[in-house]
Amino acid sequence: PKVVDVVPFVHDIFEGLESKAKEKNLHFIYKPLPDDNVTKEKLNGRRLSPVFYVNVDNDHLREVISNLIENAVKYTPSGDVVVDINGDDNHIVVSVADTGLGIPREDQAHLFQKFYRVDNTDTREIGTGLGLYLCRRLTETMGGRIWVESEYKKGSTFYVELPRINHKDAMRLIEQASIEAENAAVARATAPFASPVTPLTVPPSLPSVPDITAPHQTAPVAVVATAPVTPPVLATPPSAPPSQPLAQRRTY
Ligand code: ATP
Ligand code: MG
Repeated sequence: PKVVDVVPFVHDIFEGLESKAKEKNLHFIYKPLPDDNVTKEKLNGRRLSPVFYVNVDNDHLREVISNLIENAVKYTPSGDVVVDINGDDNHIVVSVADTGLGIPREDQAHLFQKFYRVDNTDTREIGTGLGLYLCRRLTETMGGRIWVESEYKKGSTFYVELPRINHKDAMRLIEQASIEAENAAVARATAPFASPVTPLTVPPSLPSVPDITAPHQTAPVAVVATAPVTPPVLATPPSAPPSQPLAQRRTY
């Protein structure tokens, strides 16, 4: 896990998907604008939005948020997609709301199951039905939970809740991670054979070349003892390769 400052982190993902939303002429809105987008004068030294830290695998978080925003764009023919971040002392909640197709009530309970797809006869959108299953698995791995509120033909809002860490703990973990990284770098630099250059190895001594200029010496006969080659006996019979996990991580 790493300390993630959620507002700018999610903003980065949002920006990466902006062109897809623009292609469909959607109103694509990021509510908790990071401070960088506001001039210092306007801020008057204050932060506009609260700082939300979580301590998670940032690749997991990126996967979850991008899946949700991608779905919102994919299943919204026109209207809005709004990403927001809220929370209390102990939790943060990222929400992705859209004014798209909506999800019938009977489907909502199954959405986060593997390969589940809603029969969207009114859309030609094709998917594998793995996105939300992955979202649930990864969110749970991060110690959080995910759910949806939706009204058919009106729109949907997906929520991801994660445990929040306070500013002091975040700073301590960041400091600790940087000390650990520094120690690891020092250990690598001082470890034997740490250099990427292959260390020189002493070549095995070659049989001495007979001195043909010395007439009284006879050339030594090199006898090379070679063991008969027998096929290796496997301790255990070869087993079938492990089955491929169905939920592969995809990158967007
Ligand atoms: P994949 O994400 O694997 O490419 P997918 O988008 O079909 O495929 P999921 O992301 O798991 O799969 O979503 C499952 C189903 O839930 C979708 O097929 C779609 O019918 C419905 N769905 C998901 N998000 C929304 C949304 N924002 N609005 C309406 N329907 C949605
Ligand atoms: Mg999807």
